Amino acid sequence: MSQAMSNGYRHEKASQDLINKLHTRIGLNKHRQNTHELGRLLRGRVRENRNLVLSLSLCMSCGACLTVCPAYLATNDINNSPLGRVALARSLMRGYINEDLIDRAYTYFWQCLTCRRCAWACPFGVDVADISRTIRSLLYEVGLAPNYVAG
Ligand code: SF4
Ligand code: SF4
Repeated sequence: MSQAMSNGYRHEKASQDLINKLHTRIGLNKHRQNTHELGRLLRGRVRENRNLVLSLSLCMSCGACLTVCPAYLATNDINNSPLGRVALARSLMRGYINEDLIDRAYTYFWQCLTCRRCAWACPFGVDVADISRTIRSLLYEVGLAPNYVAG
């Protein structure tokens, strides 16, 4: 996905202090606060979730979901669409995680509205809201959540 097509928007990140307080409250181990663990954590989480395995393997980038995704319609940014999020999730799954990939994951998975309109429009029933929720929970575990959510 091209960075030049980015809509330039991202939610303001919560401070590490606030994230640490929340992590402590729910007993999350500090060793998880390593962004480079994302790929390993995601592969483990995907193995536990059959719907995710199916969604990530079935999407054929046909674009049928583009006309119903409010996030894409509002921004005209292909990264901010169901197929963009599937492509990004696949990149995270491949294992080599760099800062750019982490930044894109933060930007686009937190912009998904989890409305599930894509699942309704997709000929294969690919549910990107499920993918977004899973990756958001991992982003939160490694310390990357928007201020409005953490607050
Ligand atoms: S999510 Fe479904 S509708 Fe959207 S590009 Fe993939 S296969 Fe096509
Ligand atoms: S769940 Fe996310 S990706 Fe799917 S249509 Fe809604 S905003 Fe778009």
